[in-house]
Amino acid sequence: MSASALREIAPGTYVRRHSELDLNCGLVVGSERALVIDTRSTTERGEALAAAVREITPLEQVVVNTHAHYDHCFGNAAFRDSQIYAHVGAAESLQRTAEHQRSQVVEHLRRTERPELAQTYVDTEVVLPFYLVEAETTPIDLGDRTAYLIFGGRGHTDHDLLVAVPDVSTVFWADLIEQGADPAMDDSFPLEWGETLTRLQEHPHVRGARLNVPGHGEVVGPEFVDQQRQVLTHLATELAAALDLGVQDVDGLVAKTRGLGLQDSTLRDAAVRTLETRSREAGADAAR
Ligand SMILES: [Zn+2]
Repeated sequence: MSASALREIAPGTYVRRHSELDLNCGLVVGSERALVIDTRSTTERGEALAAAVREITPLEQVVVNTHAHYDHCFGNAAFRDSQIYAHVGAAESLQRTAEHQRSQVVEHLRRTERPELAQTYVDTEVVLPFYLVEAETTPIDLGDRTAYLIFGGRGHTDHDLLVAVPDVSTVFWADLIEQGADPAMDDSFPLEWGETLTRLQEHPHVRGARLNVPGHGEVVGPEFVDQQRQVLTHLATELAAALDLGVQDVDGLVAKTRGLGLQDSTLRDAAVRTLETRSREAGADAAR
């Protein structure tokens, strides 16, 4: 088995862990169809994933983009013949932000002297998902088994889908759960993320899942998920308490949220997002 192979973590259920950003993609194989979870960050990388999938199964593929961050969906062109699912908010977000995301990555890679890799991003065609879901739970019929796309509310973004595979007690959490690094806050809703995880953990297809695949890092047990939920819930409580006290600046919010085990850069991003979301939503209320 090659290093780039998909690893079977449960019957017919695979994870491919990548060196770029320690990203995980998933594969769930049924009797009639296979579900591919996320497509990596460029067409070239997506094609390598597609080739690895074909080594496992010749079945028709269905794809889900868990959210609109480039590392999870810029490989879509390699799966353009498949039904590509995402939350309706992911399609909107990708349409709005793809070129900005691409230019940020290209600029970073050129600055860090990786022009060839930068070029693969330039050459990538962004393909939008077109099977769009809004429901809390969307079953994906794979033949003899069913996977479920589940939306639990705002968290890492406003459109994260997780994938539950209850027959093997497995959940692909995407970036709602992250192992090996702090949860990424850039587009997040820090006041709601913990609650969203609580709601998702109580979902009948998620509750008690033994195998939990984060968007990045190692496969973890339920206690890890629960611990991250607790940290994010504490963060929300501390942020809300600080806002109630009238704290209205990033440094002030960071100072009030230390001690939860999150890095200062994460707390800073969380503070920025909290203030941005609050002012945007206050503005929207005032305009009503
Ligand atoms: Zn993400």
